[in-house]
Amino acid sequence: MILEYFLPDRCFRSFDKLTPERLQRLGIRGLILDIDNTIAPYEEAMPGKRALEWFHEMEAAGIRIAFVSNNEAERVDLFNRDLGYPHFSKSGKPLGKNVRRAMRAMGTTRKNTALMGDQIFTDILAARLAGLKRTFLVPPIKDKTDWLTQGKRLLEKPILYAYRKKAALLNLKRRRKNHAE
Ligand SMILES: [Mg+2]
Repeated sequence: MILEYFLPDRCFRSFDKLTPERLQRLGIRGLILDIDNTIAPYEEAMPGKRALEWFHEMEAAGIRIAFVSNNEAERVDLFNRDLGYPHFSKSGKPLGKNVRRAMRAMGTTRKNTALMGDQIFTDILAARLAGLKRTFLVPPIKDKTDWLTQGKRLLEKPILYAYRKKAALLNLKRRRKNHAE
């Protein structure tokens, strides 16, 4: 079904709800991150304290990180200055090109790379088009109020509804299974 293309595997309340343990359990070795509204609001030039801690937790667990952003090089370079991760600006997501480049830079594959972002029609779709199996969605930290963004959010609604239905079904199955064991 076409909807599957847009459906994230998992939604989290914020980026740091995704733990290195979960990624390890899934066999993930590389994590591609959107920056704006996923890790930091637009107006914050540098990663915050929590983001830095979280990056270090990921590194300690052997998870590689790369940034794939649609924003300008200036923003992305500065954000990444003290981190030195592979980083790609003006990525043109939902095109998968820079997602594939990021995997090459991390030395990971479609199977052991995950992506996290705040937009279904750019981030999640880019990951799918690049062939990634694992995608994670977070709500935008601080959403823009322009009509284009608002329109995109409206279009995301049926997909988020489908996600919640699927998640509820999976939970039910899991509970039944646990009950049976
Ligand atoms: Mg974003």
